[in-house]
Amino acid sequence: MEYTLIRSNIKNIYIQIKDGKVIVKAPRRVSNSYINELISKKQRWIERKLIEEKEKKLEEERPVTKEQAQNLKHIVEDSANRFGKSIGEFPNQITIKNMKYAWGSCTGKRNIAINMKLAHKRQEIIEYVVLHEMCHLKHMNHSSEFWSLVESNMANYKQLRKELKR
Ligand SMILES: [Zn+2]
Repeated sequence: MEYTLIRSNIKNIYIQIKDGKVIVKAPRRVSNSYINELISKKQRWIERKLIEEKEKKLEEERPVTKEQAQNLKHIVEDSANRFGKSIGEFPNQITIKNMKYAWGSCTGKRNIAINMKLAHKRQEIIEYVVLHEMCHLKHMNHSSEFWSLVESNMANYKQLRKELKR
């Protein structure tokens, strides 16, 4: 299996799958043969991750239908209203648009943007993204206060966040 090896001053070996490539980060003192052996042991896991990444990309590139866009708008507006009441903060504006690098964003001017590609995700995931951006109206960072505000509105947010990142 082909992979890119990056040596640095780290303690453990990390295997990363990115854009169809396998990247291995390893401490300087670990031998090449040890790394090769580890990679062959992990081959199944790596192959599964490569397939998952490809499937995810295909899913996100699928065009959004009118119905899906309508449904997304409904979920976003509904949950923004609900979370707004709970948090005590409302944005100036919520826009749903195609975004390249994020699922959502919140600006200092209190404008929230939600990625149109979320139309392919299930309701809970969409609601998590809305909640995340709404919580930035109160905390413009990812501090522990921010995360506890997220958690108090969505107890299982960690699982949803993981699912979204996968
Ligand atoms: Zn954030």
